[in-house]
Amino acid sequence: MNKLSFVVPAYNEEENIPQLYKKILGLTQNYKYDWEIIFINDGSVDNTLKILNKLSNNDKHIKFIDLSRNFGHQSALTAGLSYASGNAIISMDCDLQDPPEIIDEMIKKWENGFDIVYARRKNYRKDNFLKKVGSQIFYRLLGNFSEVNIPRNVGDFRLIDKKVLREINKMPEKSRYIRGIVAWTGYNHTFVDYYRPDRKDGESNYSIAKLAQLGMSGMLGFSVLPLRIGLVLGIISILVGLVVLLIQIVDFFVFDAYYHLYKWLVVVIIIFIGFLFMLIWIIGEYIGKIYDEVRGRPIYIIKNKVNFE
Ligand code: UDP
Ligand code: MG
Repeated sequence: MNKLSFVVPAYNEEENIPQLYKKILGLTQNYKYDWEIIFINDGSVDNTLKILNKLSNNDKHIKFIDLSRNFGHQSALTAGLSYASGNAIISMDCDLQDPPEIIDEMIKKWENGFDIVYARRKNYRKDNFLKKVGSQIFYRLLGNFSEVNIPRNVGDFRLIDKKVLREINKMPEKSRYIRGIVAWTGYNHTFVDYYRPDRKDGESNYSIAKLAQLGMSGMLGFSVLPLRIGLVLGIISILVGLVVLLIQIVDFFVFDAYYHLYKWLVVVIIIFIGFLFMLIWIIGEYIGKIYDEVRGRPIYIIKNKVNFE
């Protein structure tokens, strides 16, 4: 029998876990699938662990992984994903902001042959101004400069097929931007739209600092933009230097202007700074290559093979 895995990181979610469990329980009654919920206790300091112990005692569908300390959402999710054994794997938040009601539709899309089904937020985050503007800018930059197309308004609420999970679990990279990794695999995907409600209980654990860190992982892991800054600065610097030099030369030869030696030196220095930026960029490209190698992502993923043994 096919099986569904729900993977749910939990950090201080004592109020939310029983509610989420009830909702998922309600859903699974209608399915012809076996199922499991994998909770990851990410170093909670409330009664999360106690509740997980109790639930897992009463219902063998409930499994949990207890991390030694708080490792953060992406790491907790990674831990859960590497133990999920279902044919379809649904990752979601604990706080009921990822409404279980749309899971039905996600599963239908998976049954119709989609390997990745993203839940996409329709409404805008009810966040503070800084978070909102920050994420706008971030997604714009990432969208324009990343090597893969990472869908917008999509978080870590998604369904993936077993074969996508297999590829993700193979990737040894440490700083994980999972929605990027999932998009990177390139399997066929679709969306289910939903309105994201406010958090049920407890507090959002994503501070601006944590968001910035996540954004940095996304940028560095999926875009070469930061590396190319040296190139851009170098070109600007050299151009400025050359223009000023040209003006001085014209002045000197045509209008007989007299320039102190240091004025010539200044433009030479500007041009050389440009070359320095270029050198930094070239070194950056090498570091990019090294990064590529140590990240150890597969070189390709085969979707299908025809007529082989
Ligand atoms: N979470 C976690 N470790 C952390 C922070 C959060 O496992 O250090 C979990 C949290 O319990 C929730 C999910 O990750 O299930 C998303 O966190 P949160 O709701 O704080 O993020 P937001 O919805 O504000 O983006
Ligand atoms: Mg939340």
